[in-house]
Amino acid sequence: MVHFALNPPIGSVLRPQDKLLIVANGAYGKRMAEIATYYKINHLLVSLNETEIIDPIQVKNLLNENKDITHFSMVHCETTTGILNPLKEISDVVKNYPVTFIVDAMSSFGGIPIDIKDLGIDFLISSSNKCIQGVLRFGFVIALKDKLKECKGIARSLSLDLYDQWITMEEGNGKWRFTSPTHVVIAFFQALKELEEEGGIESRYLRYKENNKLLIEGMKSLGFKPLLPMNVQSPIITSFLYPFSNFSFIDFYNQLKSKGYVIYPGKISMADTFRMGNIGNIYPKDIENLIESIKNS
Ligand SMILES: *Cc1c(COP(=O)(O)O)cnc(C)c1O
Repeated sequence: MVHFALNPPIGSVLRPQDKLLIVANGAYGKRMAEIATYYKINHLLVSLNETEIIDPIQVKNLLNENKDITHFSMVHCETTTGILNPLKEISDVVKNYPVTFIVDAMSSFGGIPIDIKDLGIDFLISSSNKCIQGVLRFGFVIALKDKLKECKGIARSLSLDLYDQWITMEEGNGKWRFTSPTHVVIAFFQALKELEEEGGIESRYLRYKENNKLLIEGMKSLGFKPLLPMNVQSPIITSFLYPFSNFSFIDFYNQLKSKGYVIYPGKISMADTFRMGNIGNIYPKDIENLIESIKNS
């Protein structure tokens, strides 16, 4: 549970007169709308099919049709299915409108190169425990300073006041606003060192891509089909369809668990799927071993 980090860029950024457009193709996109609902923030949620990427033309049409939109938010890698939304193409559209751009890059930041400045992202949300490979319980926001400065006094929550967190750190030489999560920050620092040692985000991206390619090829060779076409598949997590109708996910899960591998159930209603993630301290050899284990089970 780190999605509390999604609260500040919504609840500390949008004023009562603002309106948020959320285009969602999965549970995490919809969660941003839930957050807006809790905060009673004006929003328009456009929900797509979970196997469909967010289309930049559709975003353009929505922004043209809804002149009252002041903020736009989306998920980069929708972990619900593993679909990767075309951030660059969408940002090329969003840049032409006077809207604040909020991106949930929780499951992609650190594992997929994202040029935040070039993409014109105003608030990017991520966490310590996914592609950064740190420990859980740490969410962070990378914000454009000028936008952040405009957020004074907007927050609807004392604890999740993004502006106040930032200004306290600025003025206190990095001092945390409330008791600091010392252990988690040290683990995060270590994780960043390891990311650097690996050769940075670009190298990690290549490793994840290789892991993912081997995973999909290996699973295909065993008769499993990925839910998504390769051109929209992220290198982070993959949904596979049940290979036959009375396939038992529980049995499959338990068998793999007994061999030291943990997978995820599916998260969509339109098809029977399960998910396999390939981020973390995982290398191509581990994927080969995994495929071998499934073959022999
Ligand atoms: C993991 C994740 C989150 C945070 O989810 P929690 O259940 O709070 O850990 C948010 N958005 C995306 C896209 C994620 O992958």
